[in-house]
Amino acid sequence: MLQHDVVIVGSGLAGMSAALEICGQLDVAIISKVYPTRSHSGAAQGGIAASLGNSEPDSQEEHMYDTVKGSDFLGDQDAIEMFTRDAPEIIYQLEHMGCVFSRTGEGKIAQRAFGGHSHPRACYAADRTGHAILHVLYEQVMKQGKRISIYPEWYLMSLIIRDNVCRGIVIYDIRSGNFEVIRAKGVIFATGGYGRAYRITSNAFANTGDGIIAAFNAGVPLEDMEFVQFHPTGLFGQGILVSEAARGEGGYLINGKGERFMEKYAPAKMELAPRDIVSRSEQREIDEGRGIDGKDYIYLDLRHLGKEKIMERLPQVRQLGIDFIGMDCITDPLPIQPTAHYSMGGIPTDKDGHVIIDDKGTQLTGFFAAGECACVSVHGANRLGTNSLLDAVVFGKRTGIAALKFAKGPRLSDMKEDEVLAPVKERISAVFSSPGTESINDIRDELKENMMSNCGVFREKEGLNKGLEKVKELRERYKNGKITDKSKLFNNELIEVLELGHMLEFSEIIFKGAIAREESRGAHSRTDFPKRDDRNWLKHTLAYLTEDGIELKYKPVTITKYQPEERKY
Ligand SMILES: Cc1cc2nc3c(=O)[nH]c(=O)nc-3n(C[C@H](O)[C@H](O)[C@H](O)COP(=O)(O)OP(=O)(O)OC[C@H]3O[C@@H](n4cnc5c(N)ncnc54)[C@H](O)[C@@H]3O)c2cc1C
Repeated sequence: MLQHDVVIVGSGLAGMSAALEICGQLDVAIISKVYPTRSHSGAAQGGIAASLGNSEPDSQEEHMYDTVKGSDFLGDQDAIEMFTRDAPEIIYQLEHMGCVFSRTGEGKIAQRAFGGHSHPRACYAADRTGHAILHVLYEQVMKQGKRISIYPEWYLMSLIIRDNVCRGIVIYDIRSGNFEVIRAKGVIFATGGYGRAYRITSNAFANTGDGIIAAFNAGVPLEDMEFVQFHPTGLFGQGILVSEAARGEGGYLINGKGERFMEKYAPAKMELAPRDIVSRSEQREIDEGRGIDGKDYIYLDLRHLGKEKIMERLPQVRQLGIDFIGMDCITDPLPIQPTAHYSMGGIPTDKDGHVIIDDKGTQLTGFFAAGECACVSVHGANRLGTNSLLDAVVFGKRTGIAALKFAKGPRLSDMKEDEVLAPVKERISAVFSSPGTESINDIRDELKENMMSNCGVFREKEGLNKGLEKVKELRERYKNGKITDKSKLFNNELIEVLELGHMLEFSEIIFKGAIAREESRGAHSRTDFPKRDDRNWLKHTLAYLTEDGIELKYKPVTITKYQPEERKY
């Protein structure tokens, strides 16, 4: 049996930041189903937030307030305070590691405007910020040599919890088709988001919520899963992201009548209102027939920025438009639509990444989570742009420190390898031996369409109930899924089957939470309950797996400095 003091699943910004805190003192390993530098963090474009005040005066206090307001007052304010306080230092650490941030004329880290932030706060490397940070962290990991073991293209199969203590994980080697158990004193999940359940999404193929479902099936509740963020500017028909940096640099949103329609919805902030508000405004224009030529898209117009600025600040955005829809934003407006982008919900944790399993703050010993798969909750009902790269590095690091401290204590648990492997092997053999008349691709397509039409930018009771029934039907059909490749080596079809299973499971949780929450808050917008209802719903959802299915409980929001108020921009 393999063993490490701490094992981290995920090699994005959160996973690698955690590993760098642990190595050198304890034996640490990183598992990733994709090659580490292919983690979705590398796709982040626009920037990472910190109140450095390099463009105009700014403060941690204002960053905190903007984040609380952006979260529609569902974010936990103690966590947000700490998160915004840690931000400047973490940016300088990345800079000292060699991250190539864009610069001001005087050589300081340049900062651009982003939605919902009251000052230019996004530190960026052109429009490839995630790429720059991910590669810098990977260099640091490489520099550690054998002090960090990496298992690239290994797939997490299950989390081992016995007697309320986390004891390790079961993994599957995609290359050979073999299973291994890793015993560990501490396990950190940094497995990223789950946007792939939607037809139109900015997310990488790997973002299928495997980690959160492994935790859920091991008895961990999931928090606030109904809050799924739609980003306002996905390339039409594809969902591929056009960074908010395009609007931060001055881009316009234009409807079919040639109007800058944000004037009606957020006159002070215009295109730089928070994402939930801009996505809803776009969708409303489209639904009411004011899309371009009455179709399902509007324009993002960057032409007035000029070639020079576009080439310097937004080179990737331009290339994505050319490569994927054959349009050059220097000469053409880009057709865009809202795209499923970010998961506010996830595995509940405290500020140091300890996984918390109830409303009393009870920790699950030895289990930690950080990054997009975790819910601390600093983003509440709606995340502000550039706050999630920050979330991944700040909480990745804090979680690494907490896991290091923890893992210095206990000894590795004894366990019987066969016993923990049995359920995993059973699951795979069930997939291989399924009589198989249902097409996995059809089930996936139907799920994605169902999430778009019944649990998208706008939601209402009838659609949500219909959507939930559809997911249940798809889960039944999934049991009879057809797999054609039964080989062991690099069986991507098998991986896709497993991932679809996870998407079906968390989609049901999203629907359950969304049906119960009879209010509109942040990204959860119910047309039948259009107002925020603090009296009944100023609380976090916790979804538990019970013998009778999913059970919802709730826990209070931590409010310190800012009482909830009407959210206007
Ligand atoms: C296109 C795009 C642009 C974005 N731009 C920005 C931006 O400009 N600013 C900003 O703040 N945020 C941005 N975001 C959001 C931000 O990039 C992510 O929230 C953040 O990078 C998540 O980091 P992470 O470390 O939590 O996870 P990820 O980087 O997603 O990494 C997840 C890791 O988990 C591993 N994993 C998952 N499942 C398994 C499994 N079953 N077995 C083994 N390994 C597994 C994966 O291999 C991967 O290594 C953007 C997101 C997208 C999609």
